[in-house]
Amino acid sequence: MIDINKYLDSLKPSATLAINQEVQLLKSENIDIVHFGFGQSPFPIYKGIVKALQNHADHNEYLPTLGLTALRQQISLFLKQHQGIEMDWSHIFIGPGSKELLYHTILILEGEFLIPKGSWVSYLPQIKTKGGSCTILDTEYANDFKLNAETLERHCENSSGKQKVLILNSPNNPTGAVYNNEELQSIAKVCMKHGIIVLSDEIYSQINFGERYSASISQYYPQGTIVYGGLSKVFSAGGYRLGYVAIPEAMKGLRATFKALFSETFSAVAAPIQYAAIEAYKMNDGLLDYISRCKNILGTIAGFVFQELKKLNIECTQPQGAFYVMIGFSHYKEQINALGIHSSEALAHHLIQSYHLALLPGTDFYFSSSDLFLRLAYVDFDGKSLLEKFLHKTEINSDHIIDNCPNITKGIGQLRAFITTISA
Ligand code: PLP
Repeated sequence: MIDINKYLDSLKPSATLAINQEVQLLKSENIDIVHFGFGQSPFPIYKGIVKALQNHADHNEYLPTLGLTALRQQISLFLKQHQGIEMDWSHIFIGPGSKELLYHTILILEGEFLIPKGSWVSYLPQIKTKGGSCTILDTEYANDFKLNAETLERHCENSSGKQKVLILNSPNNPTGAVYNNEELQSIAKVCMKHGIIVLSDEIYSQINFGERYSASISQYYPQGTIVYGGLSKVFSAGGYRLGYVAIPEAMKGLRATFKALFSETFSAVAAPIQYAAIEAYKMNDGLLDYISRCKNILGTIAGFVFQELKKLNIECTQPQGAFYVMIGFSHYKEQINALGIHSSEALAHHLIQSYHLALLPGTDFYFSSSDLFLRLAYVDFDGKSLLEKFLHKTEINSDHIIDNCPNITKGIGQLRAFITTISA
């Protein structure tokens, strides 16, 4: 028997990766699966970024621990021009993905972590690995599971005075919701009043269907907000593993700790990837056009999925960005319970086994097990062919989706079949 660190003993592979493995297994048995479980960008990477990577493949040296100065400067400019955030380059650090950078921050910061119900799957497991304390803050379907300031205020009034760290993500995984300026402003007020540190996960910022980029709480609370981003979503380069963390001037004391931790763990991000990222963050016209076309396609599919689910009387959060919606079956609770299904995990299992439809259970996103909510990632389509097809089209409509995204329509069809069966 090997003794394992007690905080790591109960750690399981991330739910998203686990469902992906289940899908691969069923596929290897020649079962056709509609994969609404995995949130990876369906688009090919922009050619200019690949070219930059090729051109720098011979860079075999270790780079500075916090990242290439030229890259940090480029990200500082990018944040200003494309995300409305003023951040001096010297406060921007480069890491192997925003996930790792969030993890490092969680390791560094003491106190109570606050996660709104309807947040990304990895935050809590990361906190658990250090035996950290965490509270899930309640949110409601009527508000697309966004945190409201009153809930945060109530929590602060009723809890101890120890340091609090709120993890906020907009555009949101799993709901697709985007916080507006007023919402962020009122949350910022509460954070300021109670000295809460905010980790603002803005990895989907430019995948906002209504605006060029999403509002950031750092605009209203710059002194207390740490911002995260990276290449994986907007630039469709998850496998490149590059992200950044931007630390405000008021927290510059953290710099030495980050630097030490980076140097004792990953040393520095792969050199050729950092050079390729400089090209990405330049956001030249071709890349801007690519991002806008990807966004246009995603927004149209999201709208189609939303409309179709409404017709089926399935609850669905309003998709405003990212790749996801949370869908709910409370209108069919009785019929679903009659099948012996009483949890979102059992429902997800039933849909994958009986309807060959992969979705993630709400429990992975801090919903209670009896809440029959699942996350639907609407990225099971051929992004490369869609981008080529709609190269010169600014308008894409539902008919284009029906004609070109067979798994999206098939998935909706499977949900229709499920509802028809349980309603019969
Ligand atoms: N934050 C959210 C909300 C995500 O959905 C993801 C990836 O799925 C990440 C962070 C991690 O992204 P990265 O590839 O930069 O590690």
